[in-house]
Amino acid sequence: MNDIPLSVFRPVPRLVVKSTTVTRAKFPVIDAHNHLAEPFGGGWDQRPIAALLDRLDEAGVRLYVDLDGGWGEDLLHRHLDGIKAHAPERFRIFGGVDWSKWAELGDGFGQWAADRFRQQVARGADGLKIWKPFGLHVRDQHGVLVAIDDPRLDPLWATAGELNLPVMIHVADPVAFFDPLDATNERFEELNAHPDWQFPSPPFPPFMKIMTDFHSLVARHPQTTFIGAHVGCYSENLGWVGQMLDDCPNFYVDISARISELGRQPYTARRFFLRYADRILFGIDAGADLDTYHIYYRFLETDDEYFNYGAGAIPGQGRWQICGLSLPDEVLEKVYFRNAERLLARR
Ligand SMILES: [Zn+2]
Repeated sequence: MNDIPLSVFRPVPRLVVKSTTVTRAKFPVIDAHNHLAEPFGGGWDQRPIAALLDRLDEAGVRLYVDLDGGWGEDLLHRHLDGIKAHAPERFRIFGGVDWSKWAELGDGFGQWAADRFRQQVARGADGLKIWKPFGLHVRDQHGVLVAIDDPRLDPLWATAGELNLPVMIHVADPVAFFDPLDATNERFEELNAHPDWQFPSPPFPPFMKIMTDFHSLVARHPQTTFIGAHVGCYSENLGWVGQMLDDCPNFYVDISARISELGRQPYTARRFFLRYADRILFGIDAGADLDTYHIYYRFLETDDEYFNYGAGAIPGQGRWQICGLSLPDEVLEKVYFRNAERLLARR
């Protein structure tokens, strides 16, 4: 028995198939889900802005949505002053919520968060970013986990609707992160490398409880535009996401960090793009990275088969390869920029 550890297994596909390099998208691009700095240290706000603009020009990215202001108002202000102020036509920067204040503010927290968001917008923020701790870690003044559709937050969602600004929201995570880490887990290597990405239930709520709360939140606020990050936070089940898009006309999704999922179900994903072409936004969630842009363009535009969705030898989100969707121009145009342009221009 010649068994080798999974960690050294490096199969090289012997397929002989077409391989296309796409360095520029067919249409101008709005990257609707991205970041410019990690919360702790050396981001683009400390580097020359001209270099960043050159890189975006090279990738054909016309407008870049930086969600980092969702980490806190200090970062929001740094990015507004250090990045957006230099090229306001090229950047949108989203604000966020300081959940740590719930303990001291109690049931008044929702109104406080709404007022803070209003002030962030007055300062230049272009939308609201909600990170995944909401639904997994955020607790109220009694130490009780806050459900995603908790009515105490209604003032916040209503304010975003009133200001006509989108809420970019990420809840839960890949389904496998909620499963036991055993030999059947399709994200075994990824979770093994990042043990803190596991959300076993208990203590965490089950994946589907988070998703049904999410659906109820979006349905309860029809005046507010929600963009469900990472294909509506459930890219493994496009039927479920499609149902939510059908149920909630105020719901949109971005494709960031999930071409791995979309590209391993290319027939289903292609039907999804054709049917919901008006509701899908482009984004990569990987910084201003040229190689990643190229892979996304290849995935959307070509019918290349069985290629790596990441840069490393071992694909980061699971050991599979993806196929391109070869989307028609009228769909590409909407996904690359028309949909995002509409949502971001409503101020
Ligand atoms: Zn992100």
